[in-house]
Amino acid sequence: MTAPALIVRVLIWLLPVVLTLMPVSVCRALESEAPIDLSALSTGRAIALVESMQVLQQPLGQVSPAAEVLSRPGWRPATVANRNASWKRSAVWLTGLVTQHGDRPLACRITLAPTRIGTVEMLALDAQTGAVLARRLEGPRMLEQVRTVDHVEAMLPFDLAPGQTVRLLIRAEDLTVATTEVTARDESAYVRHQALSLLGEAVMFTLTLLLCLLVLCSRDRGMIVVGGWLLAGVCFESLFSGQLLLMLLPALLPWNVGLFTLLGALCTGLFGVATLVLLRLDARQRWPLLLLASAALGVVVGLSAFFVTDANPARMAVNRIGFITLLLWPLAAWRSPAPLDEERHRLRWMLTLSWAVLLVYVMLARGAPHPQALQLLQDELRLDRLVIGATLMVQFSIWRNRRRTAGRRAEFLAFHDALTGLPNRVSAGERLQQALDRQAPEPDATLAVLYLDLDKFKQVNDTHGHALGDRLLRAVAERMRASLGEAGSVFRLSGDEFMAIVPEAGPDGERARALAEALLAAMEPPLDLGGQQVPAGLSIGMALAPRHGRDAETLMRHADAALYAAKRDGERRLMLFAPPMLAWLTERMQLRAALHRSLRQGDFRLEFQPQCRLCDGRITGVEALLRWRLPDGTVPASPERFIPVAEESGLIVPLGDWVLDEACRQAAAWPELVVAVNVSAMQFRGGDFSGRVAAALARHGLPAHRLELELTESVLIGHEDEALRWLAELRAMGVRLAIDDFGTGYSSLSYLHRFPVHRLKIDRSFIQQMESAGPAGEATLVAAILQIARRLGLETVAEGVESPAMLTRLARMGCDVAQGHAIAQPLPSQEMRRWLDAQTDRPQVAATTA
Ligand code: C2E
Ligand code: CA
Ligand code: CA
Repeated sequence: MTAPALIVRVLIWLLPVVLTLMPVSVCRALESEAPIDLSALSTGRAIALVESMQVLQQPLGQVSPAAEVLSRPGWRPATVANRNASWKRSAVWLTGLVTQHGDRPLACRITLAPTRIGTVEMLALDAQTGAVLARRLEGPRMLEQVRTVDHVEAMLPFDLAPGQTVRLLIRAEDLTVATTEVTARDESAYVRHQALSLLGEAVMFTLTLLLCLLVLCSRDRGMIVVGGWLLAGVCFESLFSGQLLLMLLPALLPWNVGLFTLLGALCTGLFGVATLVLLRLDARQRWPLLLLASAALGVVVGLSAFFVTDANPARMAVNRIGFITLLLWPLAAWRSPAPLDEERHRLRWMLTLSWAVLLVYVMLARGAPHPQALQLLQDELRLDRLVIGATLMVQFSIWRNRRRTAGRRAEFLAFHDALTGLPNRVSAGERLQQALDRQAPEPDATLAVLYLDLDKFKQVNDTHGHALGDRLLRAVAERMRASLGEAGSVFRLSGDEFMAIVPEAGPDGERARALAEALLAAMEPPLDLGGQQVPAGLSIGMALAPRHGRDAETLMRHADAALYAAKRDGERRLMLFAPPMLAWLTERMQLRAALHRSLRQGDFRLEFQPQCRLCDGRITGVEALLRWRLPDGTVPASPERFIPVAEESGLIVPLGDWVLDEACRQAAAWPELVVAVNVSAMQFRGGDFSGRVAAALARHGLPAHRLELELTESVLIGHEDEALRWLAELRAMGVRLAIDDFGTGYSSLSYLHRFPVHRLKIDRSFIQQMESAGPAGEATLVAAILQIARRLGLETVAEGVESPAMLTRLARMGCDVAQGHAIAQPLPSQEMRRWLDAQTDRPQVAATTA
């Protein structure tokens, strides 16, 4: 810890103690008690006279004239307890003898320092004759004169000759607050005392003010609120409990009560706001709010009662009500729902404590119900300031804890992944390099780097939501860690991409291969995530050191290339790196970048390929096929190549939306033709697909029955429930549905009759097989598909029909619709239009097939 931080911490922890004890202890230390012999004053010390005095308490109504009161019964010693008592609505007389044993004349001042001045009368009588030697009356009305001596303490200056004894008679008439000190000081000690106490107050005030400002400057909302409240509290406290206000702004004196109440109200209001913000109560929680507001009112009333007599019945009633409402605050705070976090729980306690102290304070001021005890408390311990300190401490510790945990977390996160707790890409690179360095001196040792990627993770994320995706990743990470055990370490690189290092891969990586296969097997059973069975297939690419590279970067790149090859080859497999893979990888990267650019620049077009009904040769629909052509006319890649890249980069979603929109736009201008649009899995699961379809239809005014969506089996498999819902929605809208490339995928018969599709498109590979086998060649597969479709009541479309002979053959076999070069190549929309017009004029296709 740095030195300034240490100092701040020490200061913060000392603060409550200092604030609580300082005013009392400092004063006590400066003004030690001494016998009544005033000649001791010449040494410069003050003498507290009350100890040796007598006290008489009288009801306010029976204030006796001076001197005569001395003969009254009821005088008792002025002990510490009763000199500090709260003499509510009483006149208190003090009397005692002071002697001057010194040998020189003594000029001294007797000062009476009540907490707040009512009326004070002080007399010095000759001890023998009872003649008045000095007299002084102090009170609110006289404070204007007091200003000339810069002090509001009641003060009686007089001179004592050597050997002279004087009787003091002091009447303190104060509505609610006790006298506290009667002290004799010589001139110089008095001036010092004055200066010291004012300086002390000013220093305390400035310090607390600075501290509050510091708190207000912090960017922490809680801190600011507490700071605001404290600031008001400190002003309130410092201005009125001491003499600072009168020193600084004597003209404000007549406004004393009003100001006091106003600041009290401000302070209370801020306390309320602090409570609301810190406990995060909001306007909807009306009951706590109401309680809080009435409690605030209670305090204001209570505080204003500080200065007024409550003999007036109406005011008495108001005071009582205020007092009761004051008790409501804790109810308000504790009625709100329990805060979840420890911090706010602590704040709630702290605020309750603060409120309790405020309550005590108000009770002190009003002298009820145990004036003596409470007055003692107020004198000995500044509880109000304890709260200020405690608030700061709580807030500070919260602040520090937050910073500390944030710091630790940041450090952890720099090298770990937050979700799975696995070390991240940074650590992966470093650890691989370390392992390679260790391996380098041994020529025979082989190290393996595995790149692992979840199959179809994006789909899981899209269909089941990110929360489940996160759980899947955590579970997968756990499985990987368990499966690899001590043999290797796992890292999470990004998303669903992981890496493993196997330092002892065995000769030619055999051991690593076995481990990787075990990993594939471990990933085979679907994961049970809270009742949901989620498949988590894995593809693995492997690179070996030193065979495929000697530095971390190369090895990682090569393992990545092998992973890409594994994915390309179908999923759930392991691939060892081979140099040609690098070319694929770069190609993929370049394609990806080019696709992004072209999507922005609009380098995509649609071509349309007609579909012909075999029974009568009529053109019933067209399939929209995507084309990528740069402005200079070059074709960067065929759909066969760029669509998988678009799919794996997620670009297919915006691209597919564009295709859908464009196809609808074109089709709307054509006669009654159905336009078929290819939809890939990711689009289908990308959230509210049917809504997007409906929007595209509406935008171009295309009736739903003129749109056909071609889905491959992979769209449907693995997410049956989800797919069923979408399909039902689309079908309900009237959109036609076709299964594309039928026969190449899972071709499970069970889903065929569950999914509400209209059409099967027989994959062109089957048609081509038939074609290459010659006119009488094998057609069992196609025949079987046609039969199944007929049984299920589905229409059939044969794709990739290249010869007129095949058209005839398919028509005879009972196929409904054909599509292929035998009818037309895919054509741009203008040409398609012309082609269609030519067909209506001259139904050539029909002639061929009939
Ligand atoms: P597909 O859906 O099976 O589309 C039919 C493909 O067969 C088209 O290739 C078409 O040009 C081609 N074809 C048509 N007649 C014949 C024929 O007589 N002989 C042969 N050999 N081929 C024929 P294309 O346009 O290269 O599209 C390839 C694949 O790209 C499509 O296969 C489809 O899966 C995908 N694709 C094309 N456009 C889109 C699109 O807008 N969205 C999505 N998601 N995929 C698309
Ligand atoms: Ca298609
Ligand atoms: Ca197809």
